[in-house]
Amino acid sequence: MKDLYLLGSTGSIGSQTLDIVRANKDKFNIKAMSMGRDLKKSLSLIEEFKPELVCFRERCDVSLSYSPKIVYGDEGLLEVASYKTKNQGLVVNALVGHAGLKPTIEAIKAGNDVALANKETLVMAGFIVMPLARKMGVHIFPIDSEHSAIWQCIRGEKHEDIKSLIITASGGSFRDKSREELLNVTLEDALNHPNWSMGKKITIDSATMMNKGFEVIEAHYLFDIAPENIKTILHRQSVVHSLVEFNDLSVKAVLASPDMRMPILYALSYPDHLNYAGKPLVLEDVFKLTFEPLSHERYKCLEYAYMAIKKGGLYPCVLNAANEAAVMLFISGKIKFLDIERIIYSEISKNYDKDNITIDDIINCDKEIQERITKEWGNR
Ligand code: MN
Repeated sequence: MKDLYLLGSTGSIGSQTLDIVRANKDKFNIKAMSMGRDLKKSLSLIEEFKPELVCFRERCDVSLSYSPKIVYGDEGLLEVASYKTKNQGLVVNALVGHAGLKPTIEAIKAGNDVALANKETLVMAGFIVMPLARKMGVHIFPIDSEHSAIWQCIRGEKHEDIKSLIITASGGSFRDKSREELLNVTLEDALNHPNWSMGKKITIDSATMMNKGFEVIEAHYLFDIAPENIKTILHRQSVVHSLVEFNDLSVKAVLASPDMRMPILYALSYPDHLNYAGKPLVLEDVFKLTFEPLSHERYKCLEYAYMAIKKGGLYPCVLNAANEAAVMLFISGKIKFLDIERIIYSEISKNYDKDNITIDDIINCDKEIQERITKEWGNR
């Protein structure tokens, strides 16, 4: 039995994690949960899973059928992340945005393994998080279809045998639109993803291809591969989830139906492959797998991500902060779609050189950029 401490229970990844737990009640037990804005949904999940520790976003009066320990806000998230029970424990970090960083650090410091869906953790601070995890003997298990595929491909292989990583991209909602056509696309257009059903922020990040840029940065830190040896490729069917090329030019890939519950299940059950009652991959039905180059001219955010990771230091944090602020402005109707990349480029072109960067430097840098951009563009 594995005890899970779930951060972000009510979001997209959190809900799918709970589906996995429902189907594997003899293997996983939810012992701590952090809840989102939806109080009604939160209460029904708490009654269903009866965790010992519950974190609400803010103070609230609730009546429950039992008495869990209740904590609140950002401080409460840290308690969930560092929670300990008698069985083997695993933190599942399904938080969205920069709020996910500190809980990951806290989990590692507490010696808890982390199944990580929160991208910002590695994008903002991978160069601090990964060495800290190694030092603490803590494992970081990726929850993302691409990184899960790479992780499975390299299992049992030697690091020095890896030549390159090839990350696939579905292309997002605007994959067939030219740059001219992107000028006046709406929020609804952007949220209409062809293959995956995900949260709003990540669906916009897929449309701009920033999501793929983040995945390059995450892969760099997770698997310790130089950015120039990480390629991205357009693969419309979302069946090949990513590939690894070895020195002898052989290539391994993981194929599966597009369903996030599979990478979640693998992160929870590693090193086992447990039974899963999902939709099996029927290759005859897929019929055709296609691969096309991904233009960094067409998808400028992808280019900016490579720029940021090659510069290193605070630049990936700057990239993420500018993107997060810009996407929120786009979602609230304050800016146009192509303004997102304009805002990002203007920010990463500034000088953010700094030595001996700490987690607090990163959090302050993120906050300063997000507040400034939100203020500057939100009042136009
Ligand atoms: Mn992904």
